[in-house]
This record gives sequence, structure tokens and C-alpha cells, in this order.
Amino acid sequence: MGLSDIRQRIATAEEAAGRTPGAVELVAVSKKQPDARVEAVLEEGHRVFGENRVQEAEGKWPGFRERFDPVRLHLIGPLQTNKARQAMELFDVIQVVDRPKLARTLARLAQEIGTCPDLYVQVNTGEEEQKSGILPDAADAFVAECREMDLPLRGLMCIPPVEEEPALHFALLARIAERNGLADLSMGMSADFETAVRLGATCVRVGSAIFGERPAP
Ligand SMILES: *Cc1c(COP(=O)(O)O)cnc(C)c1O
Repeated sequence: MGLSDIRQRIATAEEAAGRTPGAVELVAVSKKQPDARVEAVLEEGHRVFGENRVQEAEGKWPGFRERFDPVRLHLIGPLQTNKARQAMELFDVIQVVDRPKLARTLARLAQEIGTCPDLYVQVNTGEEEQKSGILPDAADAFVAECREMDLPLRGLMCIPPVEEEPALHFALLARIAERNGLADLSMGMSADFETAVRLGATCVRVGSAIFGERPAP
């Protein structure tokens, strides 16, 4: 548990998989965590964080950013089009592009603002109804559509179903990324990030294993 332990475990997993040291970026998922815990991780020198809600991130990050600049923020939770502008202003990376309407909104705003965060397409590898993400069969066409809009697409992201073997989902995501020429793979959380590193993750999203369990709401 804790930041240095997770960093060490990522390094060990990279080495075991024959990956380049430092190939995997650690996104510390600070959603719902008390500010004191987030601050402690910032004090330890970590600067890359993930949040799943625009509004929650807006409350906490402007203040932290003033004190700990430069911070890189990843949006890892569903994005409604009416929050897209705020998200583009706050986040450096948006990992949850999952439908044409959102892609079109981001493209229009990118024109208007003049910049765009790095983007990932979220793939619903488990084809779960309650989960967002483009279905695997539709992913190639959607990636092509995003590229036609000149969106800065970097990679793919997935959240495997809880009861299933994550390795199958990570391997599927890696195949979709490879055949579409996408370099980055955001996959792996507290319970399975080492498996994700073995299967080619370039970004793991780890929350509770760094900060402790999220407090009940
Ligand atoms: C909460 C969350 C995580 C982190 O989960 P932990 O199990 O606490 O590591 C990672 N990815 C997404 C999309 C999340 O919502």
C-alpha cells in the first residue's frame, strides 16, 4: 500500500515483462479521497492524478495546482456533452471519449478554444449495458471518425467487468489499439495493474492501493 510501494510494483512488473523502465505512467486516482490524503501524495512528489467527475475535480484541483504546479489531470469517468468545455479547460487528458456526439462536441470546442487535451477512446470490452464505452465491434470505425475530426487521439481505455478475468479484456484492448495504430493503453486498477503492465498498459489507474479505501459517501 502507498505510493512508493505501487511505484515499486510497477517497476518490478515492467522488468518482468521486458518493458522499458518507466514505460508505464501511474495515474493516482484521487476521486472521493479526503484532501489530506491527496495532499500527502502530492508532497511525496507525485503529479499525475485521475478524477471521475468534472464537478468534484473543479472543487479540489485549482487550489492544489496553485501549490503543486505542474499537475497533470486525467478524466476517467463519463463525460456529458454539457460539461465538455469545463472538462477541456481542467483536464490534460480525457480518457472517456465513447460516442460520436461527444467526439463532435470536443472537436467543435477544440476549434473554438485552440487546444485540446490528449484523448483516449473508452472501449466497453465486456459489452456491459450499464457501462459506457464504444463496443469492440464499433471501435475501428469510431477511431477513424475521431481522426477525421482531427482529434488528438492517443490511445484506448477500458474497465473490465468485475467478475471476469481482466487479462482477456486487456488483451482485447491491446489488439484493437494495435490494429488502429494507437500507442497508448490505459488499463489496470488497484487489483490488476500488474497484469495490465504485462499485457502492454502504458497507463495504469490506481486509487485505493495508493490512498486507502475511499470513504463511504
Ligand atoms: C475508481 C477508478 C479507478 C481506481 O480504482 P481502484 O480500484 O481504487 O484502484 C480506476 N479507473 C476508473 C475508471 C475508476 O473509476
